[in-house]
Amino acid sequence: MTAEEVVAKFRESGALLEGHFVLTSGLHSPVYLQCALVLQQPRDAEQFGRSIAGHFQAENIQTVASPAIGGIVIGHEVARALGAKFIWTERQNGTMVLRRGFSVASGERILVVEDVVTTGGSTRETVAALQAGGGQVVGAASIIDRSSGKADVGVPRIALATLDEPSVEPSSCQLCKLGEPFVKPGSRKQQ
Ligand SMILES: [Zn+2]
Repeated sequence: MTAEEVVAKFRESGALLEGHFVLTSGLHSPVYLQCALVLQQPRDAEQFGRSIAGHFQAENIQTVASPAIGGIVIGHEVARALGAKFIWTERQNGTMVLRRGFSVASGERILVVEDVVTTGGSTRETVAALQAGGGQVVGAASIIDRSSGKADVGVPRIALATLDEPSVEPSSCQLCKLGEPFVKPGSRKQQ
């Protein structure tokens, strides 16, 4: 899939909204992504999964791991396309860990997959949790990169599409300066 095709799918499904948003990271942005909407159709999720898997065919990936909840659907599709195992990490008392009996073997070759990378925080935490378990994380991927390519997750990383719309600290948000009301998607709070 080209980056244009990926973004077009997001617009068609209503997964890409435009306005003035406060992201989970606390950053402000004129664009909000609700990836769950673009992943509603398994056929579309499968297509994104195959496309990400295509970048890692030569890497002998044994396991795909994703941070819950956002990464689970796409990570599972990437694992299917690679013929790999799929596991996920989740937070326990604020720390990203493997639960549910999931484990990794020493040297197990792992790809970390997320839906969207904004700061790279959840991917970094997932990489750390897997490395702590002895896994060898060989790469990371997301459908969308909204860090303009800047997020450093400590391993080579790819994305199917990179958004140029800036995510900024509230103090340097142009929309705030213009007095535009913002929305926190996923909650009913508006200001
Ligand atoms: Zn703002």
